[in-house]
Amino acid sequence: MSLTPSLFPELIQALIDTIDAHAEEVTELDQAIGDGDHVFNLQRGLQALREHASEIAPLDWVAAWQKIGMTVMAAVGGASGSLYATLFIALAKNSKDKVIDLSGFSEIFQQAVEAVKQRGKADVGEKTMLDVLVPVALALRDEAAAGTGLGEILDRLCAVAAEGVEATREMLATKGRASFLGERSKGHIDAGAKTAQLMIAAIAEVLKN
Ligand code: ADP
Ligand code: MG
Ligand code: MG
Repeated sequence: MSLTPSLFPELIQALIDTIDAHAEEVTELDQAIGDGDHVFNLQRGLQALREHASEIAPLDWVAAWQKIGMTVMAAVGGASGSLYATLFIALAKNSKDKVIDLSGFSEIFQQAVEAVKQRGKADVGEKTMLDVLVPVALALRDEAAAGTGLGEILDRLCAVAAEGVEATREMLATKGRASFLGERSKGHIDAGAKTAQLMIAAIAEVLKN
């Protein structure tokens, strides 16, 4: 199997399916410590991407990531929209003249997660999607450097993502809407961390098949 944007339509459908399947659960999470619109925001972005899927599929990764980022930026309001748009635009920016094999991608992804940190002025431990994205990026870099095979890497990333979600439960939110609640933000999983984990698991499933 070649890992090119020709997989994009299938990947987007897998993301739409997993977010739809967990819509109620995630909405409850964002209602508990946010404003309840996180699923709606993601669905808007994913639907816009599905509408552009046939344009994106024939592109190379750099052009595809740029187009994905711009599409998400235009379609989605909310914190998550601009943060995911930043991730994809940074993937495009950092991949110019790079070989996008597993090890090349792991470096580019790491840099893109750094860009998300900067955009949101946030880091791990603040009860956000970064509690999934940062450890996943680090694990990907380490496993790719160690020469681990793709299937094993994907399993590892799924496990790291699940740990990251669970870790947000007892964290105090210091960024985003949940931070307005102070101590009352504790005891709830972060919605954006949960959806990041769901999407990583769905991508892994497509790439393994
Ligand atoms: P909004 O909070 O604007 O309604 P969403 O509900 O779509 O937007 O997204 C909320 C999620 O965005 C949170 O659950 C959290 O994971 C993530 N988030 C919010 N602020 C930040 C930030 N500064 N850095 C990283 N992630 C953030
Ligand atoms: Mg929200
Ligand atoms: Mg909102």
